[in-house]
Amino acid sequence: MGRYTGPLCRRCRAEGMKLFLKGARCSMAKCPIETGRPAPGVHGQHRSKKLSDYGKQLREKQRLRSQFGMREGQFRLFFKRALKGRTVTGDVLLQLLEARLDNLVYRLGFASSRSAARQFVTHNHVTVNGRRAAVPSMVLKAGSIIEVRNRPKSREQAKKSLESVTGRDMPSWLRLDANNFSGELVRIPSREEIAPIVNEQLIVELYSK
Ligand code: SF4
Repeated sequence: MGRYTGPLCRRCRAEGMKLFLKGARCSMAKCPIETGRPAPGVHGQHRSKKLSDYGKQLREKQRLRSQFGMREGQFRLFFKRALKGRTVTGDVLLQLLEARLDNLVYRLGFASSRSAARQFVTHNHVTVNGRRAAVPSMVLKAGSIIEVRNRPKSREQAKKSLESVTGRDMPSWLRLDANNFSGELVRIPSREEIAPIVNEQLIVELYSK
């Protein structure tokens, strides 16, 4: 299945929570979640709160997948990779997602949303440890340095984004050097530091059937 290309706010409305898919616009009062728009669809307004166990597991998986804007196939690959981890599968899954290059570019503020970060990476605007990196799904190791390439176009875009996200909290496991347009993945975050918006255990149960 291809990537979702419909209205992004619809994803948030379907989940009943803000997934911050549109950058600066997500902080505005006209965000549909802020204005209380119901879930999409004819029955959105009267959607039953009762879900089967399977429904709950599916909902959690879709929510996390939507947050990171991933296709089902790629999300599943990340889960398989998490299964090989030495610690709790759900924690490893979250850590792998957080250590994706596009997510780090977003978290550092070089792009205002994860989808913008993905485009920023594929358009060759960043380097990792001094080498060009154009694969958004690349998983970085602790200590990796992400830098916006020293080109006017790249830096101009990053500057605009950094200005638009001023005031946003920087996670303690990242270090930003805004003057030099670079950032470091200081360490892989713990589950507590990630503070996920899902119960990842339900996702593990879903994929383990
Ligand atoms: Fe979601 Fe942002 Fe749209 Fe609000 S504005 S519904 S947070 S994508």
